[in-house]
Amino acid sequence: MCCPGDSSPAGIELVRDQNGTGVYDRNDPEPSFDPRSWGRPEANASAPVAPVSMSRRLPTGVVFAIAAAGAIMAYTARPPQQPGPAATPPPAPTETIDQRTLNVPTPASIAASLTALGVTSVDAATAGTLAAAQLGDTTGPLRLEVSIARTHLHGLTATHADGGGVVIERDAKGALAAKSLSAKLTSRLTFVRGELDGESFYSSAVAAGVQDVLVSAFANAFRYDFDMQREVSPGDVFEAGFEERVNADGEPVGPPTLVYAYLATPSKTRALYRHHLPGASEADWFDSSGRSSRRSLMRTPVEAARISSGFGMRGHPILGFRKMHRGTDFAAPIGTPIFAAGDATVSFAGMKGANGNFVRLHHANGWDTLYLHMNAIMPGITPGTQIAQGTQIGEVGTTGRSTGPHLHYEIHINGEPVDPLSIETAGGRAIPAGQMAAFRTARDAIDARRAEPR
Ligand SMILES: [Zn+2]
Repeated sequence: MCCPGDSSPAGIELVRDQNGTGVYDRNDPEPSFDPRSWGRPEANASAPVAPVSMSRRLPTGVVFAIAAAGAIMAYTARPPQQPGPAATPPPAPTETIDQRTLNVPTPASIAASLTALGVTSVDAATAGTLAAAQLGDTTGPLRLEVSIARTHLHGLTATHADGGGVVIERDAKGALAAKSLSAKLTSRLTFVRGELDGESFYSSAVAAGVQDVLVSAFANAFRYDFDMQREVSPGDVFEAGFEERVNADGEPVGPPTLVYAYLATPSKTRALYRHHLPGASEADWFDSSGRSSRRSLMRTPVEAARISSGFGMRGHPILGFRKMHRGTDFAAPIGTPIFAAGDATVSFAGMKGANGNFVRLHHANGWDTLYLHMNAIMPGITPGTQIAQGTQIGEVGTTGRSTGPHLHYEIHINGEPVDPLSIETAGGRAIPAGQMAAFRTARDAIDARRAEPR
């Protein structure tokens, strides 16, 4: 489709199709995929960009607005009193207690907010100091529940969204005293199931209810198992399981974590469980038997969630693919990250004729991987440099002889191009025997929750 006549190192002449946009068998009833077809504004608009969702940002602004409005109203209704005599007597039990609730941005704002509510500056300053001592330099908005007896502070609870915070009350002698409030967080597992639409993995996942911050992690979990351009198609079923920490009100605290990823196509099914091995720098994905999803080479060496509407190329006969076309074309927006498919030494990085910005990597087993038409090659990717699997080497572009933004990816074995789908690369290592019990426990907990009615 993309790069007829790529002057690739092996120098094999490719066959163009009739309209010159493809290199597939001209008898193929399915039209060649044109990467321009996905480059519509609405397709780009759905590309994953911001790691923070609007729904998470919005409340913060609202909180500050409420806090400011509350402080102003309290000030208007109840001007602050002058500091009284040094000793503040505790309010008599019969005295009316005024309950107020407001939000403040930080512990440092507590004293001023209490003063604005009409609390004496001595009480306000004491409570502010006590609260700051308990809360430390924790950040994030606090919810204040204040009880006031005339101008005296009767009690104060300041909590973060996780339920953690401080309670300030009068002790037996009437002095303000603080005790800490531990966070009340529980874990919540949620599963979302959907089908791939015809546009992209990203739009399919978001439509099914996968939070946008999880889509990249979800798609990338499968980059060793699936060629996300050719091996998935509309109607394929996926399922995502994610864990959230929730407070006593059931509100999520902090970002969700993807713990389960499932993808089923007519030809293969994968279920992956996230597990963090002790001593490992980060969590990894394992199948149900405890074998790592990692392979010596990635099937999808681009940010998988951004691949657009290439679904359907699977219809091309593999024989034709191998004969007519030397690699895989991953259609994706300009700028989409491209990763080293495996541990490698860079053997070429630069502009090269029809290949455009081009990187060739040499792998320890004698294989090579080639990446064409890049918009840019990352700094430091220079011949002779050794890089680890997953290192970003460049970004998707349309340089050289290319009709639209895409990555043209080739695997060569002993100098000969092969269809990436036709090879099986070495599998990942298994979880050590001593860690299997912990893995099985976590896996079974996920499976048990999946089996529950939703
Ligand atoms: Zn190509």
